[in-house]
Amino acid sequence: MRRMSGWKDEQVIIVGGGIGGLAAALALARQGVPSQVIEQAPEFKEIGAGIQLGPNVFRMFERLGLIEPVSTLAVFPNNLIMMDSVTGEEITRIPLGDAFRRQFHHPYALIHRADLHKVLLEACRQSNIIKLDASQKVVKVDDFGGGIAVRSESGKDYRGAAVIGADGLWSTVRQIVVRDGAPKPAGHITYRAVLPTSEMPEQWRWRDMVLWAGEKVHLVHYPLRTGELFNLVAVFHSNRYEEGWDTYGDPTELHERFAKTCEPVRTLLNKIESWRMWVLCDRPPIKDWSRGRITLLGDAAHPMLQYLAQGAGMSIEDAVCLADRAAAANGDYAAAFLAYQQARYLRTGRVQIMARVYGEFYHAAGVAKELRNIMLSSRSTADAMAGMAWLYGEQKELSSGAAAA
Ligand SMILES: Cc1cc2nc3c(=O)[nH]c(=O)nc-3n(C[C@H](O)[C@H](O)[C@H](O)COP(=O)(O)OP(=O)(O)OC[C@H]3O[C@@H](n4cnc5c(N)ncnc54)[C@H](O)[C@@H]3O)c2cc1C
Repeated sequence: MRRMSGWKDEQVIIVGGGIGGLAAALALARQGVPSQVIEQAPEFKEIGAGIQLGPNVFRMFERLGLIEPVSTLAVFPNNLIMMDSVTGEEITRIPLGDAFRRQFHHPYALIHRADLHKVLLEACRQSNIIKLDASQKVVKVDDFGGGIAVRSESGKDYRGAAVIGADGLWSTVRQIVVRDGAPKPAGHITYRAVLPTSEMPEQWRWRDMVLWAGEKVHLVHYPLRTGELFNLVAVFHSNRYEEGWDTYGDPTELHERFAKTCEPVRTLLNKIESWRMWVLCDRPPIKDWSRGRITLLGDAAHPMLQYLAQGAGMSIEDAVCLADRAAAANGDYAAAFLAYQQARYLRTGRVQIMARVYGEFYHAAGVAKELRNIMLSSRSTADAMAGMAWLYGEQKELSSGAAAA
């Protein structure tokens, strides 16, 4: 590994100011490494609705000094509950109280995506070694040996020691590094909406993360913003759409797809007049997402379906791991990026694969559904938590000091 003195004088360029890009800037700053974040949107902000955060993400917030600001804005639910959306019966619940916190040392939380993004953005703004540039869409990245040159669509040039592509599912940087074309639509459509709690039927105002599993459909609801709002996410199978997201959904199609669900589910769907639609896409896992001084992070590296609620979580884990490896390599970014992807690809690949499996599980019909319900309802809480340990438990490669070892 080459050792370079004064390497912390040179900035790293981060393409994309979403949750992953800002977490990367912050994690690098905690190691004394300056960065320039470049965002194509006119403002640094998140759209969308709620997001779930497992204890594995709180472990990263601890490393980034963000436990307190995130906790102030989050809701800590009492249970993860799965209901059968045809019979209306409860299938299983996992309490998130003391036993859960004892096992994983951190809580499970629900937060508005915009609030999490704001916490990261505020922390970045407080750092004097993070620069933030909006309204610049990166179109060109060149590794010229001694460093990196990045150009935006409007002709603005940036120079840095290395580049991190945190530019999401439709990543431009990925097409320079991996060159594997567009992500693949999963054939699943998501409609999302946020409802004021006053409009949520009183009997469903649970302080829980509730998933109604159906046949080729499911509905999720949970409280946000200290209980002021409810997040609703409805998913159904459809090959009608090719790509795209954040357009308005067609409620008629939604109601057709959920026609076989029980009355409470249909009542909840009827509460929303305007839904935003996402056509879900992912990619198969890969193990090599770096080339020299260019690497990828978050959805750009390993986009996944949302069924384990871990895409943002994985991007935050990536950020911490990458910054640790950069510090351990003393500015030899090519070596640091190889060490980072080596430490991450099996974990993120497992989450990508298991997210697809969970999708099948939530949408099961016939014998598969019967087996799912029997299996989950007969499981003890201790067994359920043991089954989550791979995801929520401590990861050796993410503990402080792991990179140096
Ligand atoms: C329905 C749904 C529910 C989800 N629920 C959860 C959940 O509960 N928990 C969880 O952890 N995850 C969840 N996720 C996943 C999570 O939203 C993503 O994994 C996460 O946002 C990825 O963050 P990112 O920073 O890698 O990418 P993004 O959030 O996509 O950010 C990329 C940024 O890069 C910018 N950009 C793109 N191209 C360029 C360019 N050329 N130049 C400059 N800027 C550029 C974009 O404008 C954007 O700001 C969910 C996803 C969906 C669809």
